[in-house]
Amino acid sequence: MPAPSLPAFAPPRRILLGPGPSDVHPRVLAAMARPTIGHLDPDFSDMLEQLKALLRYAFQTDNALTFALSAPGMIGMETCFVNLIEPGDKVIVCSNGVFGARMAEIVRRCGGELVLLETEWGKPVDAQQLELTLRANADTRVVAFVHAETSTGVRSDARVLAEVAHRQGALVICDTVTSLGSIPLYVDDWQLDAVYSASQKGLSCTPGLSPVTFSAAAVERIRQRKQPVQSWFMDINLILSYWGDGVSGVKRTYHHTAPINALYGLHEALRMLAEEGLQASWQRHQACHEQLVAGLERLGLHLLVASAARLPQLNTVLVPDSVDEARLRHDLLSQHGIEIGAGLGVLAGKTLRIGLMGGSATPQNVAACLHGLGAALA
Ligand code: PLP
Repeated sequence: MPAPSLPAFAPPRRILLGPGPSDVHPRVLAAMARPTIGHLDPDFSDMLEQLKALLRYAFQTDNALTFALSAPGMIGMETCFVNLIEPGDKVIVCSNGVFGARMAEIVRRCGGELVLLETEWGKPVDAQQLELTLRANADTRVVAFVHAETSTGVRSDARVLAEVAHRQGALVICDTVTSLGSIPLYVDDWQLDAVYSASQKGLSCTPGLSPVTFSAAAVERIRQRKQPVQSWFMDINLILSYWGDGVSGVKRTYHHTAPINALYGLHEALRMLAEEGLQASWQRHQACHEQLVAGLERLGLHLLVASAARLPQLNTVLVPDSVDEARLRHDLLSQHGIEIGAGLGVLAGKTLRIGLMGGSATPQNVAACLHGLGAALA
């Protein structure tokens, strides 16, 4: 077979205002272009220890077991479940969108006994309903929910849901893929036990890494498992041979070849978040959201979610019947270089999703998006 002769790929310039990934800062891209060294090199090891400290800051936790999995957010999700659940364990999944539904499917595949607490899409998970469900299922081992549901743009009250779960003795798995870096998240204060996120949204790194953190109670639950974790790659006990448990010192041994340059990028993205400060980042997201909502209202467009539960970083816009949402997105991309997202699941065709995540959340980007939408709707 002759060798194909092809030009290098030259991606077009885009402004990423979809549900993720968000714009990656040149500083992060430059970090990723630095020379690759060995993943067991002592200098790389030092960088990983800094990365863990930076992640603890982002998650607001002192959890020793805090690191980044070498895979996207879905592996973060799956890792939390496969490590905390044994066959037969009762798990309540609070589902109010696509990602809660995925959690439920993973519980089924782990052989857990699933109790599905479904909430209408566009509404936050109701703590009172969780309380009632827990009372009816007193032997629940784990309660799981999504803090920021990307399919709808809804924020659930992670602090209160965790409080309710703990009163009944259950551990908490919390999805923070769309919340980390963009809205307040306090892993320790809210007592979240197993928490996962992703690199490509509020952290504005490239996709493909999943930061995770586990409380002492979660670690204890994993230690007391009767059966080994069914997945080899996701077994926390084995992964720790590389990352270290944060307690017994770091003696790194080979588990898999770490994505070295991607981890340089995450380190730089987290440094940028620390330089800005979490509170400042959260305020920037909120200010951009308010600017967007005011502009959308001027265009006669409204949001799906009631203001009290809205995520500033993911705005689900109701599309009037007279408007072809696919054409709108196409016009924005082709004429203004702006990517926004389509509706998902039951909201497909009826909504648009405008992300203001991480470095994409700037007043200039909001203005450009409103300008593009105004032109496309005219
Ligand atoms: N959970 C939520 C809330 C998400 O929004 C996403 C991705 O959009 C995921 C999990 C999965 O993350 P990834 O696509 O990085 O695997």
